[in-house]
Amino acid sequence: MSAEEQDRALAVPAGLCATCEHLRLLASKRSVFVRCSLAEVDARFPKYPPLPVVACGGYREV
Ligand code: SF4
Repeated sequence: MSAEEQDRALAVPAGLCATCEHLRLLASKRSVFVRCSLAEVDARFPKYPPLPVVACGGYREV
């Protein structure tokens, strides 16, 4: 899914997360959620970051 397709699927634009290698999308029947996989190994990062993310020390462009 492209960054543009992801943003269309999300209720709120994901910001930096949309192009970050740590992004994991979780889809339910009605919504798509942004989960940060970096949160699993680094407690500084929230598992479900408030969107849109405009600055993030863990950002790594895909
Ligand atoms: S590291 Fe930051 S930019 Fe990347 S998915 Fe997590 S919260 Fe989003």
